[in-house]
Amino acid sequence: MNSWLLFILFVLIFSFLLETVVSFLNLRSLNPALPPEFADTYDQSKYDESQNYASATIKFGLFENGYSTAITVVFLLCGGVNIVDIWARNLGYGEIITGLIFSGVLISLSFISSLPFSIYSTFFIEERFGFNRTTVKTFILDIIKASFLALSLGGPLLALILWFFMSSGSYGWLFCWIGVFIFTLILQFLAPVLIMPLFNKFSPIEDESLKRDILQYADKENFKIQGIYTMDGSKRSSKLNAFFTGFGSFRKIVFFDTLLEKLDSSEIIAVLAHEMGHFKLRHIVKMILGYAVQTGIMFYILSLFLDNSALSDAFGMQNISIYSSLIFFGFIYSPVSMLISIIFNAISRKHEYDADRYAAETTANPGMLIEGLKKLSAANLSNLNPHPLHVFLHYSHPPVLMRIRKLQNLKFNSTH
Ligand SMILES: [Zn+2]
Repeated sequence: MNSWLLFILFVLIFSFLLETVVSFLNLRSLNPALPPEFADTYDQSKYDESQNYASATIKFGLFENGYSTAITVVFLLCGGVNIVDIWARNLGYGEIITGLIFSGVLISLSFISSLPFSIYSTFFIEERFGFNRTTVKTFILDIIKASFLALSLGGPLLALILWFFMSSGSYGWLFCWIGVFIFTLILQFLAPVLIMPLFNKFSPIEDESLKRDILQYADKENFKIQGIYTMDGSKRSSKLNAFFTGFGSFRKIVFFDTLLEKLDSSEIIAVLAHEMGHFKLRHIVKMILGYAVQTGIMFYILSLFLDNSALSDAFGMQNISIYSSLIFFGFIYSPVSMLISIIFNAISRKHEYDADRYAAETTANPGMLIEGLKKLSAANLSNLNPHPLHVFLHYSHPPVLMRIRKLQNLKFNSTH
């Protein structure tokens, strides 16, 4: 057997086994005892529900992971990639268009095979725990809009990457890197204006006194906000959230309508302060730079794998092409990208603690953020007891109890 194929199968099965072990550990670390910090937020039955929700999503993830690993292995071993490639080549277009069709078919196949899972997750699991507000119509429209975006943005980007690799020789990776980075930056500006309004309605908040409080706080911290918006998150889910969009003087803060409903104004300010903390502490800039470095490394390593005939053999290909090498590289690179994501998650968790501290210090009251976090996690039925290995691998935010305990210690320190 081809050694690349062995390596890829090993990676697929190893990551399946790892996720399985983590899921079982996660199930075992669920704890029926209500943590004292949440005694005033949860009653026992609501807390039990959060543990049931965690258990249902973990088991579902376990099943989905097994299914997707199995289907990927079968598809690879049956030479599925080659079949799609031969079909795309027979349409008789040039290299770039053929590559776009080839990738489009593979992405569609992967989407279709995972569709039953997203239907089940939205209309059965989220529904059972009272989160789901997505109608069948919204669900279908979302798929149509997302496909349209994938075609109109992803298509040209992929064409550009293929073109750089085909025409720029050994510097192809460098041009790809610069191209993708510029594309991502432009997207950051376009997303709030062109993309997000396709999925949600944004309207300026109407609560004048909340608006005044927000602007007063932002002013005090010397922070420019272009607008304060609410978004109809309730169109899809009853879960709460808030985020900033845009850069510099284009920054807008967006609160889910569900968050404005559940939190009082001082808790909303605390959540805003946390989000502002990410800007003030330069987390956003650092993450973008980290992303840039990571993309550069990825494109460089990718360039070493283009036209690799042993790799193409592993997938049973009759023809070698740059576009199929991109797909194969995805398999080879997945252990590296897992490692990078672990590092990025660790940095991001540290940033969360720092932004929490920033919010506590600038609002001079850690209690408000604690209350806000408690309400957020209760409303979202967040798992209060995730297993540390699961957190290490996947969490971009520290578990909420750890954030609360850190904030409580902060309060303790500041009174001394
Ligand atoms: Zn944060």
